[in-house]
Amino acid sequence: MHILVVAEHDGHRLRPGCLTALGCANSLVRDPDDRVECLVLGHHIDNVAEDAARFVPVLSADGPSLHNPVADRYARQIADVVVTSAADVLLAASSTFARDIVSRAAGLLGGAMASDVTAVQYDGDRLVLQRPMFAGAVTARILLHGQPQIITVRPTAFEPADEAGAACPITPVAVRDEALPNGITFERLDSRSSHRPDVTEARIVVSGGRGIRSADDFENLVGGVADCLEGATGSSRALVDAGITPNELQVGQTGKVVAPELYIAMGISGAVQHLAGMKNSRVIVAINTDPDAPIFEVADYGLVGDAYEVAPQLIDRLHAS
Ligand SMILES: Cc1cc2nc3c(=O)[nH]c(=O)nc-3n(C[C@H](O)[C@H](O)[C@H](O)COP(=O)(O)OP(=O)(O)OC[C@H]3O[C@@H](n4cnc5c(N)ncnc54)[C@H](O)[C@@H]3O)c2cc1C
Repeated sequence: MHILVVAEHDGHRLRPGCLTALGCANSLVRDPDDRVECLVLGHHIDNVAEDAARFVPVLSADGPSLHNPVADRYARQIADVVVTSAADVLLAASSTFARDIVSRAAGLLGGAMASDVTAVQYDGDRLVLQRPMFAGAVTARILLHGQPQIITVRPTAFEPADEAGAACPITPVAVRDEALPNGITFERLDSRSSHRPDVTEARIVVSGGRGIRSADDFENLVGGVADCLEGATGSSRALVDAGITPNELQVGQTGKVVAPELYIAMGISGAVQHLAGMKNSRVIVAINTDPDAPIFEVADYGLVGDAYEVAPQLIDRLHAS
């Protein structure tokens, strides 16, 4: 079996989610003939290719038309490499990048796709996949009928790949810039610069919900605790819908799925759609004025109290320690 992992990177290094996708791919290797390769796409990506080559052999698609991750071009390039390299499985971390690009490549390939996979195991020669459905209320076991198989995996569900020991080979693949689609023009990236880590990559996430009443309060209370712990900030959808927090902070069924070592929920009720994005966190702390809030059912530590009183005290204590 040939497994091709699509790299997600920041222009310099692989993103942590990609390392877990590689870890998942490596766990599928059973025979000496099985092989895992990592496909790196972009322009001037030698650093990324070298980073990926610490783990597995790399196919490097480097060309000016791949400078930005524009879905139509990336999808076509990925599909071409899957065909020419005769990959059986195309695998990637489940992320907005994959939702946009890998699923489009799946459409071009006409294979069978499963997204958001949380476990993979063999049943004889068949791959049996597990994925959550209905906001995590049900775990489905599925078989894909079709070739190639396209799978995106939840980074929180797999261990990152181990390094190979010695640098693996990097093989350039042809990029026919003029033949790639040109239907989408990259205009600009609007990204709020933040000194905090990405919510999907942080070891500690401090999240706020409707109990936090303004953007300033969110920054002072939720952001204040996060900064003391060098953590990321997250948000319930209620605050995103109210325009208090940006969309990229939303945790939950229609937001990001996180599983940090510590998740602190302030003023979040614990709706099932929010739990779907954080209930696998190692330690959950809830601060809520309502002792009957459902968040306490999943919390390891619960504090019935007003976030406006608790957070400043927490910040003072953390500064003092
Ligand atoms: C299809 C669909 C998808 C959805 N996807 C998501 C998603 O991805 N993520 C998500 O979060 N939601 C999602 N939702 C919305 C979800 O159902 C809830 O409405 C939302 O999570 C509620 O956010 P909240 O907990 O901040 O607000 P609320 O449910 O209003 O809870 C606020 C909590 O704050 C407490 N509180 C109030 N004041 C204070 C204070 N001063 N100190 C401490 N506690 C206080 C209250 O007791 C209450 O428990 C989705 C809904 C649908 C239908």
